[in-house]
Amino acid sequence: MSLFDLALIKKYDRSGPRYTSYPTANNFSAFTQTDYESQVALSNERQGPISLYCHIPFCDTVCFYCGCNKVVTKDKTKAEPYLAALFKEIDQQGALFDHSRQVEQMHFGGGTPTFLSNEQIMRLSEKLQSAFNFADEGEYSIEIDPRGVDEDTIKALAKARFNRISLGVQDFNEDVQKAVNRIQSFEQTKSVIDSARAHGFESVSIDLIYGLPKQSVETFKTTLKQVGELRPDRISLFNYAHLPELFKPQRRIDVLALPSADEKLAIFQYSMNFLLAQGYVYIGMDHFSLPEDPLAIAQREGHLYRNFQGYATHADCDIVGLGLSSIGQVGDSFSQNEKNIEQYYQRIEAGELPVIKGQLINNDDKIRRAVIMDLICHFELNFAKVEQAFDINFSEYFANALVELAEMHTDGLLVLDAHSIKVQEKGKLLIRNICMVFDAYLASSKTQFSKTI
Ligand code: SF4
Repeated sequence: MSLFDLALIKKYDRSGPRYTSYPTANNFSAFTQTDYESQVALSNERQGPISLYCHIPFCDTVCFYCGCNKVVTKDKTKAEPYLAALFKEIDQQGALFDHSRQVEQMHFGGGTPTFLSNEQIMRLSEKLQSAFNFADEGEYSIEIDPRGVDEDTIKALAKARFNRISLGVQDFNEDVQKAVNRIQSFEQTKSVIDSARAHGFESVSIDLIYGLPKQSVETFKTTLKQVGELRPDRISLFNYAHLPELFKPQRRIDVLALPSADEKLAIFQYSMNFLLAQGYVYIGMDHFSLPEDPLAIAQREGHLYRNFQGYATHADCDIVGLGLSSIGQVGDSFSQNEKNIEQYYQRIEAGELPVIKGQLINNDDKIRRAVIMDLICHFELNFAKVEQAFDINFSEYFANALVELAEMHTDGLLVLDAHSIKVQEKGKLLIRNICMVFDAYLASSKTQFSKTI
């Protein structure tokens, strides 16, 4: 059966969260250092592994489609003061967590982490290793921009303990690249990937975007063929959401050059079929992986998880967010750092943790999060599992949601019976819509979300 059902996609065409967390970050409100510290104390009581997220906000050019929190500058001297502040934050955070707790995952994101020099990346990695207790075998990943990376950088990253890389590609077509201000050749990308594999990196991940200006099914076919040659372990295929009122760089995109809604769906459909035919597994929510990749294995074995970096294999980690705008998930809370770099510096200078907002997760949030997590990671939900974990009667607790789900059952998105929900092939692309039924915050939310497809 096909994943792609045009009539259903059009019927369920609406906007919604991507559920990298529940509650989603738009619900965060005031959250103090004291709130954060008491959640760290709670997490130390529970113990468990740690995942570190380190944000490097700088980019030396701006991609016009960008919706990230970044600082665009060609001035490399900006990196050192940032690192100095980040090191202070690492010292403070490292002192809060029990040293017996091991770091099993680390991710450097941005911005562009490879804006830092090889020596700066090395120093940052060493700093983290001195402040936290790293497991011998962990998943340590970094986002790199192939335009500024050579073999020496790859060697330095391997030395700094990274074993996974993630590369932004988006599209190899030159006209598309010019239209989004990101010129990056296939050869440049291939050489970085070849070098990473030669230096023992275990996994290569590539990001693509459909719906960019100047794209068509025909142009994207060539990009996909080239991606097929690179054979990354993981592929993210994101839908470009044109929201120029929210993201300033997008104002430089020529609206008239954007593909029509039908063309965009045709690109998506072609890409989906192409990747499946190439042997990739559809993990869910824009993500594909080779069947032997840990993500696909975790999904098959029932322990896939989703967090702010997308899908993850280590479900029980507390996430420590470090650096500008980073988000953490510690104890029963989410928390986010200052998004403004000057305010971030001021908070650090004052000897404070730069946490600015967050949310304590109540029991209802936990129940709904467990439901959404099972659906988005495994496409099924066993009611008895939720009833046992949270001591509720599922059909009473979710009486309203079950009414909405009945229509999705009739439409063939899922099979709903007295014991479970099983998402069907044609419901997998609409998993966000299915999760939204369980979201208690959506009705009162004023946030502008991207389209679910
Ligand atoms: S898309 Fe990535 S590399 Fe491009 S400007 Fe945004 S953060 Fe920087």
